[in-house]
Amino acid sequence: MQAVGVLRGVVATATVAYTASVLPGVRPAPGHSWFWEVVVYNLVAWCATAMCIERAVRQPRDRATWALVGAGFGCYAVGTLVFSVWLQPMTQMPYPSVCDLLWLLFYPFVLAGIVLAVRARTMGSVASMWLDGLIAGLGLAAVGALVVFNRLTTSVEGSTAAIVVNIAYPVFDLSLVACAVGAMAVLSAWRNPAWVLLCAGFVTFAAADSWYFAQVAADTYRSGSPVDATWAVAMCLVGWAATVTSPPAAAKAESRSFVIPGVFAAVSIGLLGIGAFVELPPLGTGFALAALTAAFVRTTMAVREVIALADSRRQARTDLLTGLPNRRGFYEQLEQATQTGHGGALLLIDLDRFKEVNDALGHRTGDELLHAVGQRLSTHLTQGATLSRLGGDEFAVLLPSGDTTPARALAGRLLAELQKPFTVVGITLHVDASIGVTSIAAGTDPSPALARADLAMYRAKAARSGVELYDDERDGDAWNRLALVQELRDALASGDLYLELQPIVGLPGCAPVAVEALVRWTHPIRGRLAPDEFLPLAERAGLMWNLTQYVLDAALDEAAALRRDGWHLPVAVNLSASDLLNARLVGFVADGMQRRGLPATALHLEITESLLMEDRDISEGILLGLRALGVQVAVDDYGTGYSCLAYLRDLPITALKIDRSFTNQLLDDDRTATIVASTIGLAHDLGLHIVAEGVETAEQLAWLTGHGCDRVQGYFLGRPMTPSLLRSWLADAGSRPTAVVVAR
Ligand code: C2E
Ligand code: MG
Ligand code: MG
Repeated sequence: MQAVGVLRGVVATATVAYTASVLPGVRPAPGHSWFWEVVVYNLVAWCATAMCIERAVRQPRDRATWALVGAGFGCYAVGTLVFSVWLQPMTQMPYPSVCDLLWLLFYPFVLAGIVLAVRARTMGSVASMWLDGLIAGLGLAAVGALVVFNRLTTSVEGSTAAIVVNIAYPVFDLSLVACAVGAMAVLSAWRNPAWVLLCAGFVTFAAADSWYFAQVAADTYRSGSPVDATWAVAMCLVGWAATVTSPPAAAKAESRSFVIPGVFAAVSIGLLGIGAFVELPPLGTGFALAALTAAFVRTTMAVREVIALADSRRQARTDLLTGLPNRRGFYEQLEQATQTGHGGALLLIDLDRFKEVNDALGHRTGDELLHAVGQRLSTHLTQGATLSRLGGDEFAVLLPSGDTTPARALAGRLLAELQKPFTVVGITLHVDASIGVTSIAAGTDPSPALARADLAMYRAKAARSGVELYDDERDGDAWNRLALVQELRDALASGDLYLELQPIVGLPGCAPVAVEALVRWTHPIRGRLAPDEFLPLAERAGLMWNLTQYVLDAALDEAAALRRDGWHLPVAVNLSASDLLNARLVGFVADGMQRRGLPATALHLEITESLLMEDRDISEGILLGLRALGVQVAVDDYGTGYSCLAYLRDLPITALKIDRSFTNQLLDDDRTATIVASTIGLAHDLGLHIVAEGVETAEQLAWLTGHGCDRVQGYFLGRPMTPSLLRSWLADAGSRPTAVVVAR
C-alpha cells in the first residue's frame, strides 16, 4: 500500500513539474534539456510501468490485464529512454527508428489487456454485450478517422517504412480509444474510476499523437514542447488507473447500456449522410458502415431477446398442465383488479376427493382430469371472468364486478357443470367441488381476498354445501386468526417481539442462579400479548422455528450482556414441540454461543413434559446433541403431562421444574404436598436439580426450602421483567430477606 502511495506521489509530481517546465517562458526555449527530457520524463514513464506491474502483483483480480498493460508501458518506457539518451541528442534523427518499434509494441500489449479484462467480466454473458462495445468502438473510430486520421496520412510523406509507421500510430490510437470506450460500454463502467482514468489516459495518448503528427507535418515540432507534456499526462493517468481499486464490475445488460451504442450508430448514420454531400475518406466511411452493420445485427438480436423474454414471462405465468394462468399469473390479475379501482369478486374452487382419483387411478389420469376440468370451467365462464389454476386441484375465477350475487350464481353453474361426468382415458369419473366466494374491494391489499375465499371454501367443504359466500360474522374468528398469523410474521421480521426475564433463585439463600427468558409481543392494536395467546398460532402456522431462533438469539445476547455486567447467570429458553424435532436446533445453538464467545453453561433449555413424548427417537437424538454441547436441559411443567416415568430414566435431562399448579396447592392439600416432597426426593435420587415454579408466598417458599427444593421461581421472588429492571433487581438481591427455613 505504501509503495503505491509513493509511486502515485512521484508520478504526479514529475508530471506536474514536467508540464510546468514546457510552459512558454519557463525553459529558455523548447528544446533538449538533459534533466527534464531524460530524468523527469523517463521517471514518469517508469513510474507508470511500475504502477501497472505493482497492481498485477498485488491483486489477483485483473492480474493478466495489468501485467499486459505493464509490459506495454515497459516497452514504451524503454523506447523513451533510448530516444532521450541516444536519439534525441543526434542532429539527424533516423525515422522510423527502433524507438518507434518499441513505442508501437505498447499497443498490442495494452489492447490484449483490455480484451482480457472485458472477457473476464463477460464470461457466460450474451454476445449482444460484445456487439454493444463493438458498435461504440467502431462509431468512435469512424469519427476519429474522419477528424484526425485523414488529415495526417495525406499530409506526411516519406519512405514506405515512414508512411507505415505514420499510419500505424493513429490507427493504433483510435483502436485503443475505441476498444477502451467499447469496453466501458460493455461493462457499463461509466462511473468506475479505474476505467474512467484508463480511458482518459488513452484519449490523451491519441490526442498527443495527433497533435505531434500535425506539428511534424507543419514542421513546427520541437522537443520539450507542450506536446511532450501531453504524453506525460497520459502516462500519469494510466498509472493512476492501475492504483485505483474499484468494485468488481460485472457486465450487466442495463437498459442504459443501449444508449452509447445507439448514439454511435446514430453518429455513423450522420457521417454517411454527410458523405452524400461531401467526399469522405474511405477509412471513416468503412468504420461507419461497419458500425451500422453491427448495429443492425444488434437490433435483430435485441428484437429476438425481447420476444424470448416475453415468451418466458408468459411461460412463467402459465400452468403447463392446463394452459391456464398459474398462481403467479393469478396474483398479477388480482393485484390489477384491486389497483384499477373497480375491485371484483373471487371464486375459489377446490375439487373434492381429488387425491383419491390420483391414488386409485394414477397421476396421469389425475392430470388428464385436471386438464378436462380446466377446459370445462373455461367454456362456462361469464363475460370478463378469468380462470386460473392455483396448483393441485385448486382453481380460481376472477370476476370484474364486486357484486357477489352474479358471482354466487356463476359458482352454482360451474359446480353443476363439474358434477356432470368426465370421461378421461376411457374411464367415466364423477367430480364434486366446493367453492368459496368473496368480493374484492378496490384499492385494498389483494392478498386477504384469497384467504377469505379459502375460509368460505372450507366452510362449503365442511358443510358439503357446494358454494359458500365469505361472511364476516361466521368466518370472522378464523379470519382474525389468519390476520394474526400475518401480523406475527411481520412482528418476527420487524423485531416487535421481546423478552422478559424472570429470576430463578437458589435455596436456601435465595441468591439468583439463573433467569428464564419469556417471550412477549407488543401487538399494534391488542397491546402486550402473553405467549399463550400467540404460541399455539405460531406452531400451527409453521412459524415456531422462526420464533425460537429469534428468542434464542435475543436470550444469548442477554446472557452475553449480563456477563459483561458481571452477572454470570445462565439464561433458560423454552422450546416448543416442533423445535425438538428440528435437526437444525443443535447447530443453531452451538453457533449462537460460539459467535458470542459464551460457554455452554450460559444457556439452559426447558422442554415441557408432554413434548418429550411426541417422537421419542428424534427428540432423544436432539437432546443428546444439546447435552453433548454442555447445555443443561430441564423438564418444564413437570407433573402435568400424565406421561410415563420411563423418560426420566432414559432421556439426558438435568433438571425438573415442578408446575405451579402443584406449588399453588402445597399448603392447602396434603396429597399435593406429598407428591411434591416425593418428587424432590425422586429428582435428587436421579441426580437431577429440582426447581419449583409459581412461588407466590413466603409460606410456599419456606415449605420448599424446608423440603430441600434446590431452586425456586415465582412472583414472590421476582416477576418476569425487562432486562434493565432485572439489573436493578439483581443489584438489590443482596439486601432482600432470604428464605425462612421451616423444619420438616
Ligand atoms: P413456563 O415456561 O412454565 O413459564 C412460566 C410461566 O409462569 C410464565 O408465564 C411466567 O410469567 C409465569 N409465572 C412465573 N411465576 C409465576 C407466579 O408466581 N405465579 C403465576 N401465576 N405465574 C407465574 P408466561 O410468560 O405467560 O409463559 C407461559 C408459557 O409460555 C411458558 O411457561 C412457556 O411454556 C411458554 N413460553 C414462554 N416464552 C416462550 C418462548 O420463548 N418459547 C416457547 N416455545 N415457549 C415460551
Ligand atoms: Mg419454562
Ligand atoms: Mg413451567
